[in-house]
Amino acid sequence: MVEELGNLIAGKRLNSQSGRYLDISNPATGQVIGKLGMSSASELSDAIANAKTAQPAWAAINPQRRARVMMNFVQLLNRDMDKLAKALSREHGKTIPDARGDIIRGLEVAEFCIGAPHLLKGEFSEGAGTDIDIHSLRQPLGVVAGITPFNFPAMIPMWKFCPAIVSGNAFILKPSERAPSVPLMLGELMLEAGLPEGILNVVNGDKEVVDAILDHEDIMAIGFVGSTPIAEYIYARGCTNGKRVQCFGSAKNHMIIMPDADLDQAADALVGAGYGAAGERCMAISVAVAVGDDTADALIEKLAPRVKGLKIGPYTAGNEVDFGPLITKEARQRVLDLVNSGVKQGADLVVDGRDFSLPDYAQGNFIGGCLFDNVNTEMDIYREEIFGPVLNIMRAKDYHEAIAIPMNNQYGNGVSIYTRDGDTARDFTSRINVGMVGVNVPIPVPLAYYTFGGWKKSGFGDLNQHGPHAFLFYTRTKTVTSRWPSGIKEGAEFVIPTMN
Ligand code: NAD
Repeated sequence: MVEELGNLIAGKRLNSQSGRYLDISNPATGQVIGKLGMSSASELSDAIANAKTAQPAWAAINPQRRARVMMNFVQLLNRDMDKLAKALSREHGKTIPDARGDIIRGLEVAEFCIGAPHLLKGEFSEGAGTDIDIHSLRQPLGVVAGITPFNFPAMIPMWKFCPAIVSGNAFILKPSERAPSVPLMLGELMLEAGLPEGILNVVNGDKEVVDAILDHEDIMAIGFVGSTPIAEYIYARGCTNGKRVQCFGSAKNHMIIMPDADLDQAADALVGAGYGAAGERCMAISVAVAVGDDTADALIEKLAPRVKGLKIGPYTAGNEVDFGPLITKEARQRVLDLVNSGVKQGADLVVDGRDFSLPDYAQGNFIGGCLFDNVNTEMDIYREEIFGPVLNIMRAKDYHEAIAIPMNNQYGNGVSIYTRDGDTARDFTSRINVGMVGVNVPIPVPLAYYTFGGWKKSGFGDLNQHGPHAFLFYTRTKTVTSRWPSGIKEGAEFVIPTMN
């Protein structure tokens, strides 16, 4: 049965009245499983008006009580883990272990937010002048928003709404229209956890609703995650309208493999980081820079059979599958076009997954793993974010030539080096102009209590970090200077008052 998916506004599931719909398909079968209403600007306005009314009472609740809602939410996420993972895999295509990882990474942010009473504490200076103290407070902004991508439908909404809500804001979540079910389920779990109605609103839709968020005078801050061209648009329009805007964009993540690296370890790491989740990860490694031809040749000898042996299929096949289909037919075609361009522009396609098909899933958006050698920086497969199961090998003559490649790339999300040499690792971590760096670790995603955030065109705007720093993004500081005429003169003996 095709389910109609709408919004969560003022604590209720409401179908959009816009009359515009988008079909939601299971990427493994091509079967239409849902019909998503595309909200209008006026439906968004209703959600914002409601949020604005509900927010002051929520902000007035003390932070430890707000944190208890997050505690309950964490328990409910654990209770519903299997249900959420199944819904996520069915709509997105990623394997069940990947879907659980998506939820767990968000859950860790919710756990971190339980520390809100501590994280929101201000500062205090006694005696900043005669009889004068100064203190600072962190206060919520009011109604704030998050606009999120399709590839982590659980984690990224939680990156945004958990710190914003526990800080006392009301939140408008505009999830990706390609994976809307889990964000709606998360909204319902927050209500079950004790969140008052109207504090977390999920408004589904496309450009119309995004533009309305960017223009609405009552939205104070926007956290965006998605592709860089859209991030740049969101930033420009949001800032023009005087909002606080934080943007995380596309990526092209490199791994440098030094001649002294453990090549078996590096090859295993590249298979997981390059092909896991079909390459639809902002932290996927899509470029391996091998230092020296001997390193490149040995690496490819180890990689090629591993890539050919990858098991591809629907999430229902369980642990038998390494990765699933791409999100849509258009996404699959785009990846195929890029692979074709790589062949045309002279890269060597060592493993060709273009013709991969599964007899029982002819309508699925599957593509096999592809491995290119001899890629250079002029090729489209290097310049574009592929967002598919494709790994490029580049060859550099030495460390300096290798490090220059990620440093000159427009993106700066993640990067990694495989080496056994401490000096090289130290120089690399200090010099590289990328936000998240791995040493003998392929996907250096920091845990919730460190900050997640890319540099350059992968992350820009206000306080360009998620996690702990989202507390700063979704709150503002007030400083209070007070005079307390005590009557006690400078140099006078301090007298401890008696109880009677
Ligand atoms: P996307 O840019 O297509 O969509 C992101 C959001 O923007 C969605 O909610 C979508 O509805 C909205 N949107 C799309 N087109 C729009 C338009 N023309 N006007 C206004 N709003 C619009 O991104 P995606 O394909 O959903 O996600 C994949 C991208 O996200 C990749 O580039 C990936 O690298 C990036 N990503 C980055 C990070 C990070 O932390 N840097 C994390 C995850 C994903």
